[in-house]
Amino acid sequence: MSEGLESSQQHKRLVLKVLLWTTVAGGVVFAGLNVGRGIWLLAAGECVFVLFVLLVLRIVDRTTHFTLVTVAYLIPFFTLMVLALLLPRTSFTVFAWIQMIPIICYLLLGLRGGFWMSVVFVSLGVAAFSYRYSGEEYLLSLMMLANIWISSMAITMFSHIYERSRLANEARLIELASTDNLTGLANRMKLSEVLERERSHALRDNKPLSLVMLDVDFFKRVNDQFGHNGGDRALCHLAEVLRSRLRDTDLLCRLGGEEFAVLLPGATLEQAAELANDLRRHLAAHPLDIESTQQIMTFSAGVATLGEDGQSLDELMQTADRRMYEAKGAGRDQVVAAGQQYPLTAPVLQTP
Ligand code: GH3
Ligand code: MG
Ligand code: MG
Repeated sequence: MSEGLESSQQHKRLVLKVLLWTTVAGGVVFAGLNVGRGIWLLAAGECVFVLFVLLVLRIVDRTTHFTLVTVAYLIPFFTLMVLALLLPRTSFTVFAWIQMIPIICYLLLGLRGGFWMSVVFVSLGVAAFSYRYSGEEYLLSLMMLANIWISSMAITMFSHIYERSRLANEARLIELASTDNLTGLANRMKLSEVLERERSHALRDNKPLSLVMLDVDFFKRVNDQFGHNGGDRALCHLAEVLRSRLRDTDLLCRLGGEEFAVLLPGATLEQAAELANDLRRHLAAHPLDIESTQQIMTFSAGVATLGEDGQSLDELMQTADRRMYEAKGAGRDQVVAAGQQYPLTAPVLQTP
């Protein structure tokens, strides 16, 4: 799902850029108006801020510290708003900007950062408004302040609830997009994401990384004998049996049909081939119980390792796939790794 996450980061960048340009335009207009009205302190603050925002605009597309840059921009921006509310000759309509704070914060900083930034600056803004605009007429002032406090709290709460459910939905979508829905195993997309991560770890720590590709032998027969649902049960059984034999750090995934892959961080070619051979024995020792029969399932596997057999997922998969077909050609129910067959004397299966 790295591409999806990437695009959500791109979305934040776009929101920030729109806000930065809006701030530049607004800053220039308000600085001009405030000069005209002689509010020099605010006008100067706005000019300095516009220059700062132009600087942020130059780096916003390439910064790797997006959150830091955002916070560095939002703090002076919101402080200026609160200051504008406190100054004696400004208009109370400045408060319209204070009510945008939660929306801006949750869009740009997410749930936690959005919450704290909103709480701090909305409270400061509402307090500044209350200080400046509580008038003589007690009940009218009270009503005005209640309006401001309650509407600000409501906007903050709605933004929070919205962002929380958006995050939960995003997490659910990421999970669905990276899971095979029949077996619950990782799918090919997840494999390519994890391989990217593990490959950088392996290169950084100078550790091996291997990939096993396996294809169930004579799977058509299972479908023919027990129907498609029986075939599906067999695939789930195989997934469960293999998963029980692997470590948490190994990644078992279903590539599609009756083809699976296992990513083995820290395993050399030889260790991966031995493990694949163990998986083969383990599967044979756990037959599938179906329609009062015990069906022994077997697979043929090919192994490839990072470096010797390639650098990318495609290269590793091509090599492992080619070796898997060598295993099929040599009689099935065996593992092939760089010219080496496991078990060392492969059993000969009966043909269909
Ligand atoms: P071998 O690999 O040993 O050469 O023989 P095979 O019988 O396994 O060969 P093949 O790869 O041609 O057949 C795979 C079969 O798997 C064909 C297809 O109907 C079946 N299949 C693919 N996906 C599914 C699935 O999701 N569920 C079920 N039940 N069957 C599936
Ligand atoms: Mg196949
Ligand atoms: Mg097959």
